[in-house]
Amino acid sequence: LTEQWTGQFCASVNAEKREKVVKVLKDLVLNADDVAKIMKVFTSQMDLANGTDEGKRKQSDLLMDNTHVRCLMDGTESGDYLGLDLGGTNFRVVLIRLKKGVAETTMDNYTIPSDVLCGPTKGVFDFIANKIMDFFEKHDIDNRKEALPLGFTFSFPSTQVALNSSRLVTWTKSFKCPDGVGEDPVKLLEQALQRRGLADKVDVVAVMNDTTSTLLAGNYIDKKARIGVILGTGSNAAFVDHVENIERWTGDTKDPKEVVVVVEWGCAGDNGCLDFYRTQYEKEVDNSSNHVGSYTFEKSFSGLYLGELVRLVLVRLTQEGALFDGNLPQSLSETWSLTTSHVTEMERDESMSTMHTREALKQLQMTSSEATEDDVAIIREVAAMISRRAAYIVAAAIAALVNRTQLPDVTVAIDGSLYENHPKFHSCMMDILNTFCPKSRVKLILVKDGSGLGAGFVAVSALKQNAAQLR
Ligand code: BGC
Ligand code: MG
Repeated sequence: LTEQWTGQFCASVNAEKREKVVKVLKDLVLNADDVAKIMKVFTSQMDLANGTDEGKRKQSDLLMDNTHVRCLMDGTESGDYLGLDLGGTNFRVVLIRLKKGVAETTMDNYTIPSDVLCGPTKGVFDFIANKIMDFFEKHDIDNRKEALPLGFTFSFPSTQVALNSSRLVTWTKSFKCPDGVGEDPVKLLEQALQRRGLADKVDVVAVMNDTTSTLLAGNYIDKKARIGVILGTGSNAAFVDHVENIERWTGDTKDPKEVVVVVEWGCAGDNGCLDFYRTQYEKEVDNSSNHVGSYTFEKSFSGLYLGELVRLVLVRLTQEGALFDGNLPQSLSETWSLTTSHVTEMERDESMSTMHTREALKQLQMTSSEATEDDVAIIREVAAMISRRAAYIVAAAIAALVNRTQLPDVTVAIDGSLYENHPKFHSCMMDILNTFCPKSRVKLILVKDGSGLGAGFVAVSALKQNAAQLR
């Protein structure tokens, strides 16, 4: 494994400061043993969650659950479908026109205002219904005779009740509505559509997690895609499992004997099973997060938290006197001020260049007199190290999942802003997969907007399933 601490970027930094940097960063090193241990934890957590023993299942941190999605697309499908994608910082509406398996898509993106994110659930769904209305008007689709089949990507831990019914377990990420837990997102959506006069324009045929939709969207591009992963604001994975491998399977065993399973791994570690690698920085991030004490795993690497992890390390280095002469600039003093997009900008630097790191500092409103050449070099080193560490952590979980599928050739379909925008995440993740999945040829592919597009594909699959009466 490439050491996450390379020291290469601070090679010319004054020796005393360098020593301080080494001292602070060494606590964050994740070595090959740690990676192997993360894999082991995930394997046993998945085993516990998979079993029939209710007591054991409760011991697992994972909220792993079977979907009711049994069919992937086969390339013969036609028709118009609507996909919705809710879960990150944006809400998306997608129209998919399928002609013999070939999709033509139209998509719009809406930023969810912060007051909606923490207001009553009704407000979230009214926001959605309003945007669907805007989408219909803009693209001239509100005067159809037949209701459009709709697939709804709802990216929060949920218990699946039927293809088009689930129950919210808890809000995560930036969502902090005071109500909604235990409710069916499909019912909430239908009520909001009713209020907006759209009830007979659409037919909600499926609700799913973004990992499921990404998996279907990935499988549309590459038939070897059997795992879907989100690396965005939050993180999670889904995979296609054989029903015989699912001990607690209670459904039928008709063909296809497969079903998509959502791992719901963001909450791994909530009982302490990942404490062996967690640092004070992760604990601090948790303390200032929306959901303290929960979604532990996600807080080590996902997009909502990565920037803050970097900031906290920079704060520490300043306190140690290694940065900014011991005086923290205003721009770094506020929680969450350094975002993951600043980190991805810094990581655009190649070899010894610091142009992008400087650009990110400029975006942070830091003046060039505030950061010396040494400061810039150290910041670059921290961004590189925390990024590599983050990629290793999530890749370890993916590796455990890959080994579980036992496929000689497997494609992992990934959607999310972190994977899409970070220039080095992919190759750092590949380092882990190449080392720890000796029996599989693993390919990671970006499925841009997969969680939105896939919502439409799951709708296709749901209708096919209803026709075949598989549940
Ligand atoms: C949610 C998952 C979701 C993931 C990625 C997590 O916070 O709990 O359900 O798949 O974020 O959006
Ligand atoms: Mg998303």
